[in-house]
Amino acid sequence: MSSSRILVLNSGSSSVKYQLLDMRDSSRLAVGLVERIGEETARLRHTPLASGAETREWGGAIADHEAALKAVSAELAKDGLGLDSPELAAIGHRVVHGGKHFTEPTVIDDAVLAEIERLIPVAPLHNPANLTGIRTAQHLRPDLPQVAVFDTAFHTTMPESAARYAIDVETADRHRIRRYGFHGTSHAYVSRATAKLLGKAPEDVNVIVLHLGNGASASAVRGGRCVDTSMGLTPLEGLVMGTRSGDLDPAVIFHLARVGEMSIEEIDTLLNKKSGLIGLCGDNDMREIHRRIDEGDERAQLAFDIYIHRLKKYIGAYYAVLGTVDGIAFTAGVGENAAPVREAALAGLEQLGLVVDAGLNAVRGDEPRLISPDGARVAVAVVPTDEELEIATQTYALVGNR
Ligand code: AMP
Repeated sequence: MSSSRILVLNSGSSSVKYQLLDMRDSSRLAVGLVERIGEETARLRHTPLASGAETREWGGAIADHEAALKAVSAELAKDGLGLDSPELAAIGHRVVHGGKHFTEPTVIDDAVLAEIERLIPVAPLHNPANLTGIRTAQHLRPDLPQVAVFDTAFHTTMPESAARYAIDVETADRHRIRRYGFHGTSHAYVSRATAKLLGKAPEDVNVIVLHLGNGASASAVRGGRCVDTSMGLTPLEGLVMGTRSGDLDPAVIFHLARVGEMSIEEIDTLLNKKSGLIGLCGDNDMREIHRRIDEGDERAQLAFDIYIHRLKKYIGAYYAVLGTVDGIAFTAGVGENAAPVREAALAGLEQLGLVVDAGLNAVRGDEPRLISPDGARVAVAVVPTDEELEIATQTYALVGNR
């Protein structure tokens, strides 16, 4: 029997999210999450979709990532899907930073591990955790191909004019400072799904993708290739996010250090964890912000207005970068669910051919759908993202037929 299953792992410093997919029909066999790895109060939540059984939750001590993966394998084994199964074709790992080097999903060997490690200075929070996940999986199944799918890969097609900051070239190159972009797996998946929704090949359309989750980024995709994206050296640049500031004058940092007497670590925490929507109004959940606005809360309204103002600026900028736009796609938690955000972001842009139909915008659903009226010059779409499916698809394409 040929192997058709792909396990997708998204490893954080104290968590592992996973999905097991059968690539014969892209169906999900199991999904789950292990949290608080390294603590006495770790939790495992496992939903065995193949058997249709109830979600199982387990709490207790999980010492490290190896113990976590063994616990996941034990849960999968209850349905005959354990890590030792011969039908497992490969493990696909989400790796946040692939730098300039990794432009494609890559089968992991020692040289690849070394390169991911070399990129730690530009991704100090994410790459070490991703590496731990890879090494653990290799240890448990040394015979199995392991594939790295990079969050940055889709953006490596950006021209130098978009990828470089206007700073001294030697300094930038020495420290590998450039705009890498993130959420690439989502931008790749959603831009292709938008082309499909329009009945066209990806090569034949220009699309603006707005990935609006707790982290948020926009991308301009010309004929299937990314030509600009809003995140940069790190995920801090660009749109207003749940807890990140997005764009700001870099001199704010000097000012906070000199006048505010804050340390670099404090400023880092301020801009990454205590800014954006949460810094502006105390909430980073768009549902809560909508509720407060409905009650007349002015801080929530201002936070929403700043969020929309920035989003609109990026839509205009990427429209200009692309020249002609066939579609704009909203995705991720806010983009897929928050109709008021979609409406406000495109309000007043009729001159650009951008119109949202209020009735269509109000409809909820899990499938890709258009929310622009029939015959609109630019299609406006809601396209649920599926990063795990994209990682599994790319992994399978690389190793499935070996
Ligand atoms: P993500 O990072 O893609 O999982 O998105 C998470 C964010 O999506 C949350 O922080 C909320 O702000 C937002 N969100 C999720 N569901 C809704 C909803 N029904 N309406 C508005 N925003 C939502």
